[in-house]
Amino acid sequence: NMKISTKCLHSGYHPGNGEARALPIYQSTTFTYESTEHVGELFDLKASGHFYTRLSNPTVDAVEQKIADLEGGVGALCTSSGQAATTLAILNILHAGDHMVSTATIYGGTVNLFAVTMKKMGIDVTFVDADASDEEIQKAFRPNTKAMFGETIANPAIAVLDIERLANIAHRNGVPFIVDNTFATPVLCRPFEFGADIVTHSTTKYMDGHAVQLGGVIVDSGNFDWTNGKFPEYTEPDESYHGLVYTQAFGKAAYITKARVQMMRDLGTAQTPMGAFLLNLGLETLPLRMEKHCRNAEKVAEYLASRTDKIEFVNYPTLPGDKYHDLAEKYLPDGKSGVIAFSIKGGREVAAKFIDHLKLASLVVHVADIRTCVLHPASSTHRQLTDEQLVAGGITPGLIRFSCGLEDIEDILADIKQALDQL
Ligand code: PLP
Repeated sequence: NMKISTKCLHSGYHPGNGEARALPIYQSTTFTYESTEHVGELFDLKASGHFYTRLSNPTVDAVEQKIADLEGGVGALCTSSGQAATTLAILNILHAGDHMVSTATIYGGTVNLFAVTMKKMGIDVTFVDADASDEEIQKAFRPNTKAMFGETIANPAIAVLDIERLANIAHRNGVPFIVDNTFATPVLCRPFEFGADIVTHSTTKYMDGHAVQLGGVIVDSGNFDWTNGKFPEYTEPDESYHGLVYTQAFGKAAYITKARVQMMRDLGTAQTPMGAFLLNLGLETLPLRMEKHCRNAEKVAEYLASRTDKIEFVNYPTLPGDKYHDLAEKYLPDGKSGVIAFSIKGGREVAAKFIDHLKLASLVVHVADIRTCVLHPASSTHRQLTDEQLVAGGITPGLIRFSCGLEDIEDILADIKQALDQL
């Protein structure tokens, strides 16, 4: 029952007498055992213990336990990237011939994964407007729908997800609700408290926070009922584990155990011990950092909103009149993250000039970092699209994603001011 900042420092690793205070890096692919019988039991999942770092490692395990504790879940699985976390989270439920409902306002890489790569694997995804009525969203469900997916705070609109409402829709249809909680982090929002069943993260973003290590994580709430008849893989024998039945053998931890022993075993997108060590350093200061990211972003959003001479609109949920103001008060009471979207008057070229004039904020293909960073989708990630195509995708040609770092707010504001004044 400790508070989140205490958990960030202490969960997952409890050194004994004379042991290292900081989390040790177990830089070993493998672990020794004294009998073939013991190794056999490990392979049959009858004994617990580390035997090969693709499946588990003491350093990675400590970080997984910490993140599970932060989110309030029964278990977690670290992965090599956020993309790997999303992929494994889905493939642990859906097969060729299955269908998923996803909100449309999600990270572009996830849209590609769902609309292109998963389609090639025979998994069909219908994208819905997260703000549509229950009845509209319900129309997307089919008899073969096996999951629903959304993002707590979605780019580039900085749209806040109504987690409780969408979880209810998913549950009425007998399927789990998976939430990508990357931008909020468990410091600002814990989706399980509002009915989400599975949480994913790109730990590359705020959790690491220092732009030093790619990573992802899947967390299981342990609350979804996999025995409701829709998920035979959980209730029927797994031939690759001598007929093991996941719900019988692992109860509330069936989903996350299967993700590890089946998906990670076969797909191999594991986090490394060194990567987990770096991620843990980031997690230790996450609450402190989130507080300042949010404080800085509020001030930047206010300033930008006051510059009506150069700015078309600002999306940030603390602003009065922001479309997501009320949802953010419910789901993100302690802060709305450090990411702002705004649009410069004059379109693509003027927005590009603004970015080129910035001196402190770095132009990087990254977000949610300790250093203020900025991206212009129309001249980078979305440069192949015409202005009309951009608008159809919810991105104005002048849209800028601004990720507030931990620098002094006076310096961030001065940088923005001088860049705007040159336009
Ligand atoms: N989810 C969100 C919300 C993201 O912003 C990103 C990356 O930007 C990802 C997932 C993918 O994570 P990664 O880049 O670690 O693979």
